[in-house]
Amino acid sequence: MTAPHVVVIGAGTLGVCTALNLVEQGARVTVLEAQSIASGSSGRSVGVVGSQLTDPFEIMLRVHSLRRFRQWEGQGLRFNHIGYLRLARTSVQMELFAKSVEIQGEAGLRSRLIRANELRDLVPHISPDGLEGGLFGPDDGFLDPHEMCNFLAGFVRAKGGEIRQYRKVLGVERWPGGYTLEINGDPIDRKRRLIDRKRRLIDCDAVVNAGGAWAPQVAALFGQRLHIWPERHEAIVIHLDEPLDYTMPMVMDLVNGEGSGLNFRHEKPGELIAEIHKVDAIAPEDPDNYNDQCEERSKVDLAELLLERVPDLPGARLGRGWAGLYPVTADHRPFVGPIDASEPTLITAAGAGGYGIQLAPVIGQIAADWVLHGAPVSVPGSQSLAPSVERNIPVTDRCVVQRAGRLRCDRCR
Ligand SMILES: Cc1cc2nc3c(=O)[nH]c(=O)nc-3n(C[C@H](O)[C@H](O)[C@H](O)COP(=O)(O)OP(=O)(O)OC[C@H]3O[C@@H](n4cnc5c(N)ncnc54)[C@H](O)[C@@H]3O)c2cc1C
Repeated sequence: MTAPHVVVIGAGTLGVCTALNLVEQGARVTVLEAQSIASGSSGRSVGVVGSQLTDPFEIMLRVHSLRRFRQWEGQGLRFNHIGYLRLARTSVQMELFAKSVEIQGEAGLRSRLIRANELRDLVPHISPDGLEGGLFGPDDGFLDPHEMCNFLAGFVRAKGGEIRQYRKVLGVERWPGGYTLEINGDPIDRKRRLIDRKRRLIDCDAVVNAGGAWAPQVAALFGQRLHIWPERHEAIVIHLDEPLDYTMPMVMDLVNGEGSGLNFRHEKPGELIAEIHKVDAIAPEDPDNYNDQCEERSKVDLAELLLERVPDLPGARLGRGWAGLYPVTADHRPFVGPIDASEPTLITAAGAGGYGIQLAPVIGQIAADWVLHGAPVSVPGSQSLAPSVERNIPVTDRCVVQRAGRLRCDRCR
């Protein structure tokens, strides 16, 4: 049998990781990217990778991802091991953290409980007010997602895959056993910005929709309905008067929806990056037309939260900010698999919300399994991530609680 030709739509972290898993298993792969590599949510992320969660399945997914990150790190991907501290406000959360330490330990990951009176040993500037303690993973950290996508794109190319940038999929035709995709043409005269109107056609055996916040639009080209809510999130650089004499780990004030959502981490000496993981958006954003800059109101909100949690940072002041989109699903878990079980050659890999950098390696693995083996054979339990009729529902149906106030639904993390 000849190797199947698979088109992956989108060159964010999910698309590139899927493409890499496919080429490694012998598929012929073409990645089509409407803009440039990592130009979507991936390039706007703050790049944190960690496993300090409480749900065993979520931890298991990250065990798979971290295995791959370690491998790529060995091959030259830069990974900053600053550690990850998730804060607890209640004893119940501390119990969940204790369980997490056990689960992570069994999977070979290092983590430990930090009591309230030990928090300052780890983060000397933190105010422990209202905190019971935390869960700390010393090996977690962050990377540059733009660099990650380009690094992995290099592997895809080296293994014979093709990555075509500025190639937007505009239309689809199905035929027995495959698809013809219609993409935009070449820019022929850059100076005069004339665009070649000639349509291009690409035949393939299977398609992976890794279109991020645009995945519903891509699905619609195939006559499918996909429910992903593009949720706007902002990140801001914090400048300090002088470098800290310790490395600020990633600090996250959110456990299963409880907490402010404030998070911050070391970026470079004298610089932190902060974000609020929890927002109260009342409408989905248009990924082609949203405010990609930080709003003044959010800067004030963020400053207040920072003042409460790290009141004495030396000369802290807000620097540049930006906004990007979390592609969110109703149950806040990614979609990986076919929307229609009777069409296993059309796979969705999207909806990773605020975790699409750290989950990309395992999502790519599961998506490639679906394409090449018809089931997610290498990650136990991941069949549950398929966009089934029960899961692929409007986000508003599950998140009424969230939309009514600053709360999150049960599954929000
Ligand atoms: C401020 C912020 C901070 C974040 N921090 C973190 C973090 O610390 N850790 C973490 O794990 N995650 C984080 N995330 C979430 C993470 O960035 C996303 O979950 C992830 O980038 C989603 O990747 P993706 O590949 O699905 O989508 P994208 O990166 O958006 O890629 C989709 C691509 O598809 C392309 N495309 C769309 N339509 C078409 C078409 N018709 N034809 C061809 N190409 C098309 C787009 O151009 C785009 O490049 C953060 C997000 C934001 C906004």
